[in-house]
Amino acid sequence: MNSCVFCRIVAGELPTQKVWEDEEIVAFKDVNPSAPVHVLVVPKRHIDKLTEATSQDRDLLGGLQLAAAVVAQKMGIADGFRLMLNNGASAGQVVWHLHYHVQGGWKGGVK
Ligand code: 5GP
Ligand code: ZN
Repeated sequence: MNSCVFCRIVAGELPTQKVWEDEEIVAFKDVNPSAPVHVLVVPKRHIDKLTEATSQDRDLLGGLQLAAAVVAQKMGIADGFRLMLNNGASAGQVVWHLHYHVQGGWKGGVK
């Protein structure tokens, strides 16, 4: 069994609140949100972290950013959101499957 939590979500083995997906990418709500709107944008193929990506992942990485913009539209935060990626433990990465955080929805701006 795959022990990667995001691979298990992609495989449908763990429940999640899916927001958007295409063939290569899925977006779902963060289980422990740190913003009023907090969605994770995740490649369906496992990549540990950004520094493990190669030039062959160029389209996928661009696709993740475009997906983040679509997610922001869908969640009603397109006028103001943050796109964040933690690469490595010292930066706070705890799930070792590359993902972007889309965060927004603060009333009156970022606190
Ligand atoms: P990181 O710190 O690795 O950049 O972010 C990992 C994020 O994944 C955290 O914000 C955490 O709340 C979220 N997360 C961890 N496990 C799960 C899960 O099983 N489901 C969902 N939806 N989010 C998760
Ligand atoms: Zn994975």
